[in-house]
Amino acid sequence: MSSAKNNSTKRLLLFAAKLGYQTRSFEEAARKLGVQLVYVTDRCGRLDDPWGDHAIAVHFDSPEAAAYTAMEAVRGQEVTGVLALGDRPAAAAAYAARGLGISYNHPAAVEACRNKLRMREVFRDAALRVPWFRNLPIDPTPEPSLAGISYPCVLKPLSLSASQGVMRANNGEEFLAAAARLRRLLESAEIRATREPHLDQMMVEGYIPGKEVAVEGLLTDGTLRILAIFDKPDPLEGPYFEETVYVTPSRLPATTQAQIVDSARNAVRALGLTQGPIHAELRINEDGVWPIEVAARPIGGLCARSLRFCSGELKEPIGLEELLLRHAVKLPGSDALRESEASGVMMIPIPHSGIFEKISGEGAALATPGVTDLLITARLHDYIAAWPEGSSFLGFLFAKAKTPEEVERAIREAHKKLEFVLTQRLPVEHPATHKLPVGGD
Ligand code: ADP
Repeated sequence: MSSAKNNSTKRLLLFAAKLGYQTRSFEEAARKLGVQLVYVTDRCGRLDDPWGDHAIAVHFDSPEAAAYTAMEAVRGQEVTGVLALGDRPAAAAAYAARGLGISYNHPAAVEACRNKLRMREVFRDAALRVPWFRNLPIDPTPEPSLAGISYPCVLKPLSLSASQGVMRANNGEEFLAAAARLRRLLESAEIRATREPHLDQMMVEGYIPGKEVAVEGLLTDGTLRILAIFDKPDPLEGPYFEETVYVTPSRLPATTQAQIVDSARNAVRALGLTQGPIHAELRINEDGVWPIEVAARPIGGLCARSLRFCSGELKEPIGLEELLLRHAVKLPGSDALRESEASGVMMIPIPHSGIFEKISGEGAALATPGVTDLLITARLHDYIAAWPEGSSFLGFLFAKAKTPEEVERAIREAHKKLEFVLTQRLPVEHPATHKLPVGGD
């Protein structure tokens, strides 16, 4: 990082739970712009960069306490802006921004984004399209005929993300199986350790059929600018809802895209979000546009790499991280527009849970015309859970082309060339038994 620590140095607090590819892109952008990046994170032990001394250690399960710790750590220093990656860090960022007098989202708005029940209530009260919904205890498993459930419905945790634990049920039997599975997930040691609130409840709501899009946006004093609309060309009809392919620009008719933008604006306004990046998921069917979810943060994982922005003011195209950084510290260039080429990313799906033993075909996949990058983020020999228990992908595959159709084709062709070997967990060996063969793909 620039060692310039004079009064004109802009300082940004970056609230991030995960330190990895995405934060590295912010580091690069900060270095280029001469912005001092100060991490506020609960993963300090994992900092592997020489700027580790800039990190402020917090616990995101208590956002107000995390904000207080961050404010104390920067007392006496001028802070120009805040940014948050992830839903929990966004809440801490909102409290800190208030304390520091930085314009950012109100904590109540960010808190509403972290609670799927609250979000439905907000949307309903603002007369946006919402399915029927209710929260139910996970224990004892509710009897669906008594709980007034109709089908198809969707069961989900109140506060997890990345579609983890989200399941569709088409009848009472499926409901009971899904409820039991969700209960096991929410009671698992791994999820309990997150200390997310409301782990003793689930949300159940009507299934909304239709196409799905993701909207990436940027708010300035309550005005939403759309950075990209991504089509999700896979059916996403359940029973689980693992994300896969995102392609922009959208191939939907201009009138539908205008309705999507309207719905995203209304959802953001209803929640009271005013500042910084948003990522929204919406469904479209003959009844209109249904906001599924709005998050007060940018697109996650490595997907941001599918977005590049250009403007006359900038010498070269910039990534989403640099655009957000410029916006947060009020440097020019944050009004840059997405480049004209079509672009897409596949969050590489997990065929089934298991130990990730081997990948092959990377060279062939990368050589597919249109493919620009392939990054395998899962670690070899780690156990990887498929959805609905899982929440992270095998990796990311990127493509660019003149049209969205070509992008989608390139991604799918490249994916076919990849082969992943995941083996089932070794059974715990009993001394008196022979080792069982490990199941392969
Ligand atoms: P998360 O925050 O974990 O991503 P969401 O509520 O956004 O949880 O749900 C994840 C995905 O599950 C959505 O993007 C959508 O594909 C699907 N989904 C969620 N709720 C519904 C619903 N009511 N009807 C249809 N699909 C849904």
